[in-house]
Amino acid sequence: MVKRACKICKRIIDKTTCPVCQVNETTTSFQGVVLILDTESAIAKKLGITAPGKYAIRV
Ligand SMILES: [Zn+2]
Repeated sequence: MVKRACKICKRIIDKTTCPVCQVNETTTSFQGVVLILDTESAIAKKLGITAPGKYAIRV
């Protein structure tokens, strides 16, 4: 299955619509995947991530 990334929240998903943002703003062209477990970590803050999960570094 092709992985997609939401252009708004950067979450990695396998649908064309982001379940969090409820918009059809996803892309298959993203770079890098980061697994965020701790939303207080520096990388999470840099990416503006507020919930644990898999995210694209660049969308
Ligand atoms: Zn989203």
